[in-house]
Amino acid sequence: MIAPRHRVVIVGGGNAGISLAAKLLRSGCPDVALVEPNEVHHYRPLLSYVAGGAATLDDLRRPQVDVVPADVHWYEDRVTAVDPQASVIRLAGGRSVGYGDLVLCPGSEVDWDAVPGLREAVATPHASTSYLPEHAPETWQMLSTLTSGRAVFVISDRHVPCSPVGLKPLFLAAGHWCATGVLDTITIDLLVEGARLAGTARADRELRAAADDYGVRVRTGTAVSRVEPGSRTLHLRTAHGTDTLPYDALYVAPPHRAPAWVAASGLASAGSDGFVDVDPQTLQHRAHPRVWALGDVATVDTSPSGGALRKQVPVVAHNIPAALVGGTLRHYDGYTVAPVTTSRHELLLAEHNRDEHEEPTVPFPDLVRPRRSLYLFDRYVEPQVYWHRLLRGKVS
Ligand SMILES: Cc1cc2nc3c(=O)[nH]c(=O)nc-3n(C[C@H](O)[C@H](O)[C@H](O)COP(=O)(O)OP(=O)(O)OC[C@H]3O[C@@H](n4cnc5c(N)ncnc54)[C@H](O)[C@@H]3O)c2cc1C
Repeated sequence: MIAPRHRVVIVGGGNAGISLAAKLLRSGCPDVALVEPNEVHHYRPLLSYVAGGAATLDDLRRPQVDVVPADVHWYEDRVTAVDPQASVIRLAGGRSVGYGDLVLCPGSEVDWDAVPGLREAVATPHASTSYLPEHAPETWQMLSTLTSGRAVFVISDRHVPCSPVGLKPLFLAAGHWCATGVLDTITIDLLVEGARLAGTARADRELRAAADDYGVRVRTGTAVSRVEPGSRTLHLRTAHGTDTLPYDALYVAPPHRAPAWVAASGLASAGSDGFVDVDPQTLQHRAHPRVWALGDVATVDTSPSGGALRKQVPVVAHNIPAALVGGTLRHYDGYTVAPVTTSRHELLLAEHNRDEHEEPTVPFPDLVRPRRSLYLFDRYVEPQVYWHRLLRGKVS
């Protein structure tokens, strides 16, 4: 059977894939196909609020059919391999699909193997994560019912999407413990694998000050190497050696990795844990110029985030037709953003480029200072912007 072929094939109908499909159609691309197996689309940023008791899963889910643009050819299937020499992708259902240009945006996935015992730990009521929808409500169940003991929050620095937002459940929980009068009976430890709590020095200072207000013990440069769920013990790796820490409640922003088929298809960059080897500025594959990547699966030398896609989508939408006619390619400067709550009613924005220079969306007011208005924007306005503008390709 002859494989169907499309002008542009997009792999993954998440934030990146849907926004790009809509943007390409708006700019006149006649034939866009999408491969996405899931029937439900998630607005992932609200998972942090679910984990902090300030949203429900219903607030962030929509049927996928409602967000796939009408003119897109949707393959409700999963990609298992890419043959960039033949310009063909293979689907789990057995079909092959040819492409003119291929855009990879299947996101990343939790790397349970990176921390022995972690998967078993989150299967107990004493450990959880906001990074998987099925665990986000359990996170709030665990945190909101804790009235004494030790709560440990762990943020990995291995490819975690928008990693500083892993602090949202901490501050939302601390605000709850404060309001219910149990803060003094709970010891809060924050273990961060990287050197800072957010991508810029100023945001780091603000977050440390907020943590200090709640009595949080912050340790940077500290990774969990192993979890013993039975004895509720973390084995730690620090700059000074190894250590252990018991927990009564454990929250993790766990290490992530790229889907295995990316590297198996010869599309990953060496030493990147399997992430797609694109030029971080043009988002074009370094070896296969008709292959592109954006979103969490791409190596873009900056922290992945939904906010980063506001800049990446227009770049890829411009560069695909431009490359075909030898035109000038647009550059992505590595802009990314992390909106982090500092209590149950305030939030700051850490916005920066890939050199970690601040890149504020607006010059005034100072969005690195925690604000009530920012909390309300992130929790209530941003989801509407997502559904009604970003997923409809209304980004420039
Ligand atoms: C808990 C959490 C909180 C976050 N908070 C924020 C925030 O506050 N602000 C912010 O800017 N960003 C935030 N992010 C990050 C943001 O959600 C991601 O950066 C963004 O979703 C990345 O988009 P993507 O399309 O690359 O990946 P995804 O949105 O993960 O979409 C990938 C899609 O690809 C599909 N797929 C996977 N494998 C295949 C395959 N083999 N074949 C076909 N399709 C496939 C998946 O089903 C999925 O639909 C958060 C993320 C999480 C998890």
